[in-house]
Amino acid sequence: MIANYGYEDGSGHYYIKIDTSKCAECTAKGCISACPEKLFATELDDFDDEVVLIKEDARNTLQTNCARCKANGEKEPCRQACESDAISFSW
Ligand code: SF4
Ligand code: SF4
Repeated sequence: MIANYGYEDGSGHYYIKIDTSKCAECTAKGCISACPEKLFATELDDFDDEVVLIKEDARNTLQTNCARCKANGEKEPCRQACESDAISFSW
């Protein structure tokens, strides 16, 4: 499943998209420890597979939460840690 977490406002769209079918196969779950803002959590999906999500209280502030990662011009730490390329951003 493709899960979208985020919001949009007058300045743009701020969504993190996660391909949770890849998370189900991922044992390392490296995105969780790689994120300096601790935005990722886990849950069991409808098939009892452990997948990641963006914590609810962070979903409306992603532009701010991710600003430092995005400011350095490199691939974000969460995406660097994800060997399956399951994470993408809309901004
Ligand atoms: S590292 Fe990638 S595939 Fe693994 S749980 Fe995180 S987002 Fe999913
Ligand atoms: S960009 Fe940075 S703060 Fe945002 S989810 Fe990825 S690692 Fe976490």
